[in-house]
Amino acid sequence: GSTLEIKNLHVEIEGNEILKGVNLTIKGGEFHAVMGPNGTGKSTLASAIMGHPHYEITEGSVLLDGKEVLEMDVDERAKAGLFLGMQYPSEISGVTTSDFLRSSINARREEGDEIPLMKFIKEMDEVLDYLEIDKNMAQRYLNEGFSGGEKKRNEILQLMLLKPEIAILDEIDSGLDIDALKVVSKGINKLRDDQFGCLIITHYQRLLNYITPDKVHVMMQGRVVKSGGPELAQRLEAEGYDWIKQELGIED
Ligand code: ADP
Ligand code: MG
Ligand code: MG
Repeated sequence: GSTLEIKNLHVEIEGNEILKGVNLTIKGGEFHAVMGPNGTGKSTLASAIMGHPHYEITEGSVLLDGKEVLEMDVDERAKAGLFLGMQYPSEISGVTTSDFLRSSINARREEGDEIPLMKFIKEMDEVLDYLEIDKNMAQRYLNEGFSGGEKKRNEILQLMLLKPEIAILDEIDSGLDIDALKVVSKGINKLRDDQFGCLIITHYQRLLNYITPDKVHVMMQGRVVKSGGPELAQRLEAEGYDWIKQELGIED
């Protein structure tokens, strides 16, 4: 398994400091949840790690097995085994889901070692079945006209086929009805083994009824302010975030 270490990460957007020193370590085999009120920088954390150009890293580092991720270009990050599921996945017109998946898989393999087409189709069909996704979706342009639930299932389809070392999933549960939530959770749980590490960013505790995290972290105002086990998520569900603000003397 791999280890992702986020150390003292500071990130600015258009001159405003959004992340003010985030520290987190995720190892292969571990599921971590990051929770927190809206606007605290959860998506900024995910986007900065994946190299979104709007986010300026002013301090800190992100190491994957000791290698500086922030110095890799975006393709290299994926090739090194990082996966990001976006809160708002983008539409790619003119590229079918199937072609996108196959080229993403091949981008992680060495040249000359591309996945054979038949093997790819077989693997994709198995995962489509597992996630209860209509086979026709594979031939549609990526995310174009997809419903919110279809986009999220598609993210998990990508995740299951790409088999990254470490995945960061940003609000993979947002906008899902209970059936879609169960399917998405089933997919993520299927990946659980001692090699795969996952950072699950969520505003709601609900997802964590289906995916039990090993550790829960609370982010507020650009920092991880509290960490604990699954019981922390349950307390947040019952009591909200105010008690943490009071405990830490944080003003709104
Ligand atoms: P969360 O995911 O926790 O809801 P975000 O990371 O999306 O929080 O946002 C953190 C802060 O950064 C918010 O105050 C938000 O308004 C600001 N922000 C996010 N994206 C941009 C952007 N593109 N330009 C300016 N400010 C942004
Ligand atoms: Mg948000
Ligand atoms: Mg967000």
